[in-house]
Amino acid sequence: MNDMVIGKTGWLEAAQALQSDTVALRRAIHAEPELGLQTPKTMAKVREALAGLPLEWKTGGSTTGAVAVLRGARPGRTVLLRGDMDALPMPEDTGLPFRSMVANTMHACGHDTHTAMLASAARILCGCKDTLAGTVLFMFQPGEEGHHGAKFMLEDGLLSDPAPDAAFALHIMPNAPTGLFCSKVGPLLASADVLKMRVQGKGGHASMPHDAIDPMPVACEIVTAIQVFITRRMDIFDPAVVTIAKIEGGSTNNVIPEAINLLGTIRTQSEEARERVHEGIKRVAENVARAHECEAEVEIVRGFPVTVCDARAIGVAQRAIEATFGAEGWKTMDAPVMGAEDFSYVLQKHPGAMLFLGVCPEGQQWKMACPCHSNRMVLNEATLARGVAAHCAIAERFLARGFD
Ligand SMILES: [Zn+2]
Ligand SMILES: [Zn+2]
Repeated sequence: MNDMVIGKTGWLEAAQALQSDTVALRRAIHAEPELGLQTPKTMAKVREALAGLPLEWKTGGSTTGAVAVLRGARPGRTVLLRGDMDALPMPEDTGLPFRSMVANTMHACGHDTHTAMLASAARILCGCKDTLAGTVLFMFQPGEEGHHGAKFMLEDGLLSDPAPDAAFALHIMPNAPTGLFCSKVGPLLASADVLKMRVQGKGGHASMPHDAIDPMPVACEIVTAIQVFITRRMDIFDPAVVTIAKIEGGSTNNVIPEAINLLGTIRTQSEEARERVHEGIKRVAENVARAHECEAEVEIVRGFPVTVCDARAIGVAQRAIEATFGAEGWKTMDAPVMGAEDFSYVLQKHPGAMLFLGVCPEGQQWKMACPCHSNRMVLNEATLARGVAAHCAIAERFLARGFD
């Protein structure tokens, strides 16, 4: 690697020189996906790809994740680059030659590409060790898909000593123009909490509802009342989404059931809105139920917090990307998206940013491409070199100039 000429515009060339290795690692991970906090086979593939490089490996007890530490020749700032590693519990229907060989497990969110891009960035930056001032932390993180892997790695102390002065992550997006990087200052992704509710009545004969307490219309009224609460009591400029996605209850046409169960999701763009929605749902559900002599039990399972990008970190990322790919390589997003990410835990503790990289497959319109989490999600592998180069450019720029 040391004979490679890497300057401000050389990151893409360096990444392209490793492109076949990046793709091979991505395909190997794709074919053998793993779920949750334990992704040992994926980790072993990364360790093999990075064997012999001047990296110190830090591991913790809660996950199989690791932080690889690259110390530059001179002291300086610390920058973190993150790639997540886990797949989703779902079937794959892409027909790709390297499709998943594990039943009901698919890399449908592109974490295979995130890991492969981060590994190649680590290889390139290790080749620049002699000219780097400061430290690069490569965070290989399992358990993003609802498993709080980033939180566990923080709690295991893997992001301290040295702690990052800035933290960056990339996420591929098939529904964006190929090769384009985009993000925004402030909230980028939503908080995501699970809403569970039980509306308790009293079972009886369907022909004599007055002798029972029918929870069915009450549950329906609660669903509507929650939407009224959201539109009337929440600030439209601090938005929230509540979707009741499942209603379960009853057994046949002539029996009033004892209880109805509801299941849904709560999304917000700020922690303030999140708390207000939690309180509001409880208040509305409990009181609507009470009005009809039912009882509503509300349980909210807290998921990931809001992903908030630091303005200075977005500035660093934008300038690094424009220097590497030209101004057309960057787009500032108009609005956040209501999906969620556990990189939010890292950004709660350390200033940083998450960026999307458009990977729309060749010959497709990006708006029509199968999105992340689709059983048919495919992507343009040629763009992975751009992701590798972006990691390198951002890390090098932050170490050299900080938030300037
Ligand atoms: Zn996902
Ligand atoms: Zn993802």
